[in-house]
Parts: sequence; C-alpha cells; structure tokens
Amino acid sequence: MNINEIRSKYLEFFSAREHMPVPSSSLIPGNDPTTLFTGSGMQPLIPYLLGKEHALGNRLVNSQKCFRAEDIEEVGDNRHITFFEMLGNWSLGDYFKKEQLPWLFEFLTSEIGLDPHNLYVTAFIGDEKNGISRDTESAAIWKQLFADKGIEAAEVAIGSEADGHRLGMQGGRIFYYDAKKNWWSRAGTPENMPAGEPGGPDSEVFYDFGTAHDAKYGPECHPNCECGRFLEIANSVFMQYIKQPDGSFMLLPKQNVDFGGGLERIAAASNKDADIFHTDVFEDIIELLEKFSKKSYDDSRYTRSFRIIADHIRAATFMLGDGVRPSNTERGYVLRRLIRRAAWHALKLGVADKDADDSMLSRSAVIVIEKYKDAYPELDGEEAYKTIFGEIRKEEVQFAHTLAQGMKEFQKHISGPSKEIAPAVVFSFITTHGLPREMVQEEMRERGLYTAWEKVDELLAGHKETSRAGTEHKFKGGLADTSEKTTRLHTAHHLLLKALQTVLGPQVKQRGSNITQERLRIDFSHGEKMTKEQLAEVERIVNEKISEALPVTHSTLPRAEAERLGAEHEFGAKYPDLVSVYSIGPKDATVDNPQFDKAFSIEFCGGPHVGNTSELDGTFKIQKEEAVAAGIRRIKGVLR
Ligand SMILES: [Zn+2]
Ligand SMILES: [Zn+2]
Repeated sequence: MNINEIRSKYLEFFSAREHMPVPSSSLIPGNDPTTLFTGSGMQPLIPYLLGKEHALGNRLVNSQKCFRAEDIEEVGDNRHITFFEMLGNWSLGDYFKKEQLPWLFEFLTSEIGLDPHNLYVTAFIGDEKNGISRDTESAAIWKQLFADKGIEAAEVAIGSEADGHRLGMQGGRIFYYDAKKNWWSRAGTPENMPAGEPGGPDSEVFYDFGTAHDAKYGPECHPNCECGRFLEIANSVFMQYIKQPDGSFMLLPKQNVDFGGGLERIAAASNKDADIFHTDVFEDIIELLEKFSKKSYDDSRYTRSFRIIADHIRAATFMLGDGVRPSNTERGYVLRRLIRRAAWHALKLGVADKDADDSMLSRSAVIVIEKYKDAYPELDGEEAYKTIFGEIRKEEVQFAHTLAQGMKEFQKHISGPSKEIAPAVVFSFITTHGLPREMVQEEMRERGLYTAWEKVDELLAGHKETSRAGTEHKFKGGLADTSEKTTRLHTAHHLLLKALQTVLGPQVKQRGSNITQERLRIDFSHGEKMTKEQLAEVERIVNEKISEALPVTHSTLPRAEAERLGAEHEFGAKYPDLVSVYSIGPKDATVDNPQFDKAFSIEFCGGPHVGNTSELDGTFKIQKEEAVAAGIRRIKGVLR
C-alpha cells in the first residue's frame, strides 16, 4: 500500500471515531532515539495532557512531519531515514486502553491488511520499587484481540534488552519489558521523574519480516532485537500516573492516550519488505536515478548512494517547503549538508551535471512534491515548486564549485614533499563549506593527501554538539515551547502582524513564523524593502499597544465565523471546522464579550498567549528586515 493511501485511511479511520484533525506544524525533531514514536508528537500537547481544555475537543488525530538531524550519518541501511511522518492520535481524558488497542489492531489488520500472525506486541513489566504494577490490562486486551483472529497469544516476561537476547522468543506473542523500553515520561524512567510529572506505560507493535536472526546482536532474537527481523511500527503511550512528592505514583484523575505510528514503516510492513526504500516515494526516485545512471539499486556498490539521495532529497524538499534555506547556521546548515551529501552521491552514481538547467536531484524533488502536495499544501503551487527546484539546483551547482575550489586550496597547504594536511584545515574545510566528511576523506585519498583523522573527528564532535543544540530548539513550531519568554514574544508577534498591515496595507499576509525564547521571526508577503520610516512606525504601533494594556482573549469559533470576522490565518494552512482564535483589545473586552469588531488583532491561533499586553513587559525592537524569497520579507524582533 502506498504512503498517501495509508495516511488517508488512518485519518479517515480516526475521524470516523470522532477525532478532530490537528494541523501538522513545522518539522519537529524526533528527540528520543530509544522510543521512536513518542515524545516528539506529544510535546506541544503537554498542557492539554495535564488537563488544559483543547479547542478541538478530547479526541485528536494527525500526521506530523518529523525530522531527525542526528540520523544523517546513519542513512544508508534499509531502515534509517532523516524525515518521516508520524501518525498520531490522542485521547485527552477520554478513551483509554480498551478502545485504543482494539482500534489500532483493527486499523493495522483490516484497513492496512497486515497479517496478525506477523504482529508482536510489548507491555510494561512493572516496577516494584516504585509501586507501579505490571500492565496486565493491556496484555489481556491484546490476548483477546489475537484470540479473535484464532491466534493463541502467550505472554513472556523479558525485562531489559540484554534479558531479551538471553531469554529469546519462548513462543511468545506479548512481551513484557522494563521501564527503559516500555515507560514514557518527559524525564524518562519512573525514578528520574520529578514530583508532579505525569507518565505511564506504553505498548508497542512490532512487525516480523521473518528474516533470520543475526547472532552478532546477541545469542537469541526478541522483538526489541536490532537485527532487522522485527520493526517497531507503532506505540501507544498510556498517561496513567502522576508522581507524588513522596515518590509514590498515583493514578491521574483524567487518563490520556498518546499514540505514534511510523507511516513509512507501516508501508514497509504492508509490502512485507523490510527495505523502507522499496516504499513508493523512494522507489520512484530510485527508478529515475537507475534510468539515468544505468546503475542498479541492487548492485551493492551503489545501494547506499541511491538510498542517501532518495532520503536526503525528500527531507530537503520538506525543509524548503517550511521556509528553510541553505546557510551555515542552524537549520540552514542541516539543509545544506543534506543537499551536498546527496550531490556527492549523485557524482558517485555518475548522474551529476553541473551545466544542465536541471539535475537528477531537482527532478527527484519534483517527484517528492507531486507525491505529497495534496497532503501538504506548503509544497503545492507554482511558487513552492520554483523555490524548491531552484534552491536545490543552486546549492548543487555551488557545491560542485566549492568542491573544485577546495581541492585546489588543499594543494596550497602541502609544503614540500609531504602530502599531509593539518587537521584544523580539514576541519574548517568540512564545516565552512558544508562538505561531507566521508567525501573529503575519499577525495583526499584519491589525491594522495592525508591527515590525522582522529584529530579532525575530535574537532567535529565539538562542532556537532553546538549545532545540534541549535537545531533542537529551532525545529519546534510556536506551539512547542510554552515558556514565558516565548509566550510573550508570541503575543508580540500578533501585534507585529497587525502593525505591518496598518503601515504597509491589508494585503500583507503572514507566510511563515518561528518563535524562540530569544526572538520572534515573521515572514510576510511584501514586494520591496521596508523604509526606515516604515520600520519605525511599525515599532511605534507595537509599543503603543503594549502600553495600552489591552486584554488578550481566547475563543473557539466555527471556521466560517472566524473567517467572516477577518481573523488572520497562515496562507496555505488547513484548518478544522472549529478553530481557536485569539483577539487583542479593545480595552474592555472579556472572554464572555470579546467584541471582535473592535479588536486590534484577531488571529487563528492555538496559543498560548499572555492575558494582557502589559505583561509583555518591555520595548519591542526590530533587529533585522530582509528578503527571504521573491515577494517575501522577513523581520526578526525582540522584547527588551
Ligand atoms: Zn534478532
Ligand atoms: Zn499565534
């Protein structure tokens, strides 16, 4: 089954069970490498999981774009990808285990058609020390679900991953693991949780591809074995407990479900093929590359290059769609690395032509756009197409140039008969020019040059940490970070948009935004550079509204009603029938009487916001105004 079919079926299946669709926000990093499908989708929903009312109701569903920068170097085997879609569904104090597990089982077996004989599940073994009981409730539900399919599902207690390699399958179908594998909280295992922190057991589903176990991973195979026989495809987290100040665990008054499923992995399972690159979108790219390179994906000398190009171009396309551009900092640097790594592997396949108008990489991006544009409107339209195609091509040409220049540069560092290059020179070459390490190594080897690579790697390890710290914060959408500073900047962001429309005209629309604890950023449609006077006037209006101490009110309205009121919404975003709206002003507005017609600003927005603009507590200052694309300007601003 292809990726679009699975996504649609999933959204339909849960919509039929009264789930409201939540819009997919900007790329969110998958931040927990041990449990693949939790943590990243959940973070923005934490306030709601703790009892805050969600405007859309108690049952939510979506498919979320996720990106994992730390996996870039690992791409090349049959399962690692940097970008993936995570299917999510949430119960906010509504349904629990006895609904979630049967729904999931029905979705996987009846809708997707997975053979239940190939499904294996896990549950939490319990934690005596912390007084948390074994999750026999989930196991009993699974047992019945398998029994209904004529499968006798035996329970097996494992414990840790090492225990699994010692104990093996033992004819089991339901496997109990410890907190490292089957417990979720933001802080990790029960003992690491602070008082007041919610958490609970989770239950994973694994697909068995039936391949032989590889003994290099351990003597025996078990569902959490990394040998490739089993693939984790889904995980339901049951937020069941809250830690007490005395260290004990109490049941939450309202229990929640947080589900995450790997869309590409479910597609691989539906193909009964462990190679994720045999799923439709990758396969289309690989076919194109095979045709023009006259090389085969099955030729083990080239498989890795095919996979890297297919993965990296798909990820790069989505990043470009989200407004990221290649650069030497933060997300831009990650994007640059993705495109340059793909470009180098295109060279290896012999399909790079730096003089052509298009290239295999930009044409691969078009395959991605065509595949996803219906589900992700930010990839749709002439402008998105031109930007993505053009940026990839531009970066690729620049890369070819840098590579040639760089190799010349290296020659300069060779003095006398020695062909040794100082590690610092090699390091700066990799980091400043964004050239892949393995590429530099190979190119040097071909020219008979060498360096102390362990020194280079030491320098790179330090560099990676700094750039990773950058990406972790900046990949999150506005919703993800609910700290006070970010909340204040979010309200300032609403004031700023309205001020821009006041000064430049009502045709100005928001085209992107990003808020961190330090600054806000808005991309908006406007054809020319703003004048000094215009910038000063915008700042003045924002600061005037801050000093007027206007109330900020939150309402939930039918979408049509909000549109009629002229509430601002982001171009191209899809919204549900019932929307959350924030309005700022007038002075005597209240939640019961928001007086939209007199408000200074109204926006479709999930919040959170301060209650009154006086809480912004500072002066708004524009730091930078610049172009990001044709007809799109960007402003960065701070409160100080
Ligand atoms: Zn194994
Ligand atoms: Zn907002």
